[in-house]
Amino acid sequence: MFTFTTIAQYHNDLLNGTTTCVEAVQHYLDNIGKKSSLNAFIEVYAKEALDRASFLDFERMAGKTMGHLHGVVVALKDVICYCNHTVTAGSLILNNFSSLYSATAVERLIEAGAIIIGRNNCDEFAMGSTNENSAYGPVQNAADITKVPGGSSGGSAVAVQADMCMVSLGSDTGGSVRQPADWCGIIGFKPTYGRISRHGLIAYASSFDQIGIFSKHLQDTARVLEVIAGEDAYDSTVSAEPVPAYSDLLQKSSISSRQEPFKIAYFKEALEHPGLDPEIAKAFHQYVEKLRLQGHIVEPVDFPLLKYVVPTYYVLTTAEASSNLSRYDGVKYGYRADLAAQDDLTALYKKSRSQGFGKEVQRRILLGTFVLSAGYYDAYFSKAQQLRRLLVEQNDHIFEHYQAIISPTVPGTAFKIGEKRNNPVEMYLADIYTVYANLVGIPGVSLPLFQHSNGLPFGMQVMMPQFKETELMVLGNYLSHLN
Ligand code: GLN
Repeated sequence: MFTFTTIAQYHNDLLNGTTTCVEAVQHYLDNIGKKSSLNAFIEVYAKEALDRASFLDFERMAGKTMGHLHGVVVALKDVICYCNHTVTAGSLILNNFSSLYSATAVERLIEAGAIIIGRNNCDEFAMGSTNENSAYGPVQNAADITKVPGGSSGGSAVAVQADMCMVSLGSDTGGSVRQPADWCGIIGFKPTYGRISRHGLIAYASSFDQIGIFSKHLQDTARVLEVIAGEDAYDSTVSAEPVPAYSDLLQKSSISSRQEPFKIAYFKEALEHPGLDPEIAKAFHQYVEKLRLQGHIVEPVDFPLLKYVVPTYYVLTTAEASSNLSRYDGVKYGYRADLAAQDDLTALYKKSRSQGFGKEVQRRILLGTFVLSAGYYDAYFSKAQQLRRLLVEQNDHIFEHYQAIISPTVPGTAFKIGEKRNNPVEMYLADIYTVYANLVGIPGVSLPLFQHSNGLPFGMQVMMPQFKETELMVLGNYLSHLN
């Protein structure tokens, strides 16, 4: 029977002849079939994946060198374009829309030998924290099927959690990779803004969006990241910073034992927040003690701006979304409403957008249009931009003194399906610890370290300065083994 631990181990098994890519794909297809009620996949590319697997097996057996991601079975969130495949952003408005090109990240995955197995369910246009805002229905958390998996990349998190692929790609605008990873008990990694090209990633809020990686091992995260990161002529916001050999560096760092203590900060106000589950707070503090016992310096820092991060995030992202989503007008893409004889062009726009977009997306377009409107621009949009600047300054200041910031990833464990559906403001609070990294553009990871007495997993978030992905993975690896 096929079992997966890490990509490196899988590659050894392929070279020893103890498994094949076909066997791996078959294993995942069987699991996807058995677990279809979790609703993690919108579409499965069964035949295509098997054909590609046998082609890769053939090439390898004929002596061709294996690509860095040879035979690695990957699933994609339904906001990442894959040429000649449907992509809908979990929305009716992109019903049956087929992409004309592949995202740069997808092209690089394929170039390195990966096998794309299917398209994952997600919140519509990546807006949500529970995966309940999808035109394809909610996703169930495999740890407890009455609970949500988190969002917006809920399907991609469950696909890894429930062994339906080896790794998956999601997108993280305010926590959509780290938060579902936390609730599903896996690793969710969001790189620095601009580390991975956004070409072919359906835009939600362009100055926040970043592709992220779900996995069960940081070694696998490192391997995927070094393939997909780096300069791209199709995205001018992507950094020209060279891409380190993350997986080698991580491997080497775990061999040599660590001498220097880490200097780590946590936000005092974050741990005092009334919305934080006391059991999560306790686990966090116990963990901090453990770190101190190992000689590391872990200190609280003041973060008086905490109460502004969620409002700042929602003002700026809804503004960007209202602009980004204006292209879905019933003319250019996907869904178009049926019209009556007297309907004019405005009616076509109105009807298509009212019927094609779900409630949460409409709410955000309205909010975003409002904060950008002439009369309110200064009061909301400009203010939020000023706050973002203050946060960046505060962040720079913290990193002058500390190497990393840690926090719980989410203030509570997974909600019951339906529990918060009618309370958007409470739902937005689930993002309180994750939006910070997107506001200031730094990398963050959620590590699956803890188990709650309610039986659900939860994690810890670690953030580092921009482009410190290697250091973040090294620290993440160390922290994962401390527990
Ligand atoms: N939950 C947040 C939101 O609804 C984050 C979404 C995301 O990162 N895509 O906006």
